[in-house]
Amino acid sequence: MDKLTLAEKDKKYIWHPFTQMKDWEQEDIVIIERGKGIKLIDVDGREYYDGVSSLWVNIHGHRKEEIDRAIISQLGRIAHSTFLGLSNVPAIELAEKLVAITPASLTRVFYSDSGSEAVEIALKMAYQYWQQKENPCPGKTKFLTLTNAYHGDTIGAVSVGGIDLFHATYRPLLFETRKVPSPYCYRCPYERDKESCSRECLQYIERVLQEEHESIAAFVVEPLIQGAAGMLTSPPGFLKAVRDLCTRYGVLLIVDEVATGFGRTGKMFACEHEGVQPDLMAVAKGITGGYLPLAATLTTEEVYRAFYGEYEEKKTFFHGHSYTGNQLACAAALANLRLFEEEKLLEGLGEKIKVVEEELTGIAELPHVGEVRQCGMMVGIELVQDKAEKTPYPWKDKTGYRVCLEARRRGMIIRPLGDVIVFMPPLASSCDDLRVMLNIIKASIETVTG
Ligand SMILES: *Cc1c(COP(=O)(O)O)cnc(C)c1O
Repeated sequence: MDKLTLAEKDKKYIWHPFTQMKDWEQEDIVIIERGKGIKLIDVDGREYYDGVSSLWVNIHGHRKEEIDRAIISQLGRIAHSTFLGLSNVPAIELAEKLVAITPASLTRVFYSDSGSEAVEIALKMAYQYWQQKENPCPGKTKFLTLTNAYHGDTIGAVSVGGIDLFHATYRPLLFETRKVPSPYCYRCPYERDKESCSRECLQYIERVLQEEHESIAAFVVEPLIQGAAGMLTSPPGFLKAVRDLCTRYGVLLIVDEVATGFGRTGKMFACEHEGVQPDLMAVAKGITGGYLPLAATLTTEEVYRAFYGEYEEKKTFFHGHSYTGNQLACAAALANLRLFEEEKLLEGLGEKIKVVEEELTGIAELPHVGEVRQCGMMVGIELVQDKAEKTPYPWKDKTGYRVCLEARRRGMIIRPLGDVIVFMPPLASSCDDLRVMLNIIKASIETVTG
């Protein structure tokens, strides 16, 4: 019997996420064996820039000595013990740290393993809060959401999502939400410039809140940028205005910082740009520097108190996962946060963000680039067939995908969202690295659309 190659075994045994496997089977697949700094190295020894931070998670690069050492050191003690009925050292230290670095309103940390779970937990907490707070409002059961939102792939997270391509199939399984047309784009549903569009959207939200606040538990929002929707940036001041409206109408604000958290937008959390204090916050992706699965839902003392009572009152939050508070992941997260301080990572980001901005001006001028959107180190480059009319390419052409394939030939891994090329490099990338990576993207777009 012939021995199968690794690639053949992959195609025989594995089902990849967000992947049409019929296409995958016909492709030359890249199998990663190692990492070094901001590069990935495959089984044939080829090196690639990690241009999307291994799907938006990596911060300091791969094989970062301090994180490697923290995990090994924790491994010398214990890898995992349950968080149900027991506590552990790194989870306690990390919770203290998270409360210290997140907005002041947030004082309690509930751990889980992925961004989707962190959102699910925020939804369940918000719902249950209104049911069992001191003066209960049992009618407040609905969630206000934005179109184009993405909050994860589990059923609750999909319910508050708004991307038809990903979510429409599951509609009969989902709970109902109150959807507001999102102002996170230039060609917005209100067909206005960004400022008046934001105003119009806020008026819409206010009307909904005026009429329906008695049935609404919380507003769920991606602060500053809707990532999976195609890197759509929010009008300035929008988040702050939403916070004020939620406060005025007694609706909780759930901020999904899964993508934006841990420096991605130029500050530790996107909320900080507008001085927003959320009632609940979901974090995940960057929390361990891209090393291990870990997530957290943070909330206020006010929400926490609604679950606090006598055992027989059954106000307990009946939720938890097998790996909640995992020690290895918490140790990696602590090392990640120490590196932010030691390397003054946030202080250095301003210059890097400028370099990205400069390089993007050249890309924006390309004849088939319709729009370039940037929020800190999160970038979306939208490809169009006709620049003036902003007509999209036919879906079946897979233009965005072909640009990413070309970038791979040129030594960089990126992954598109349809025809939006996503660039989200590790925050540790140097200014020179950033220039090289953006030049690869530029050349790849020229080659494919030229
Ligand atoms: C990635 C993402 C999620 C889901 O996180 P997972 O860890 O993939 O489950 C949720 N919300 C936002 C904004 C995200 O970008």
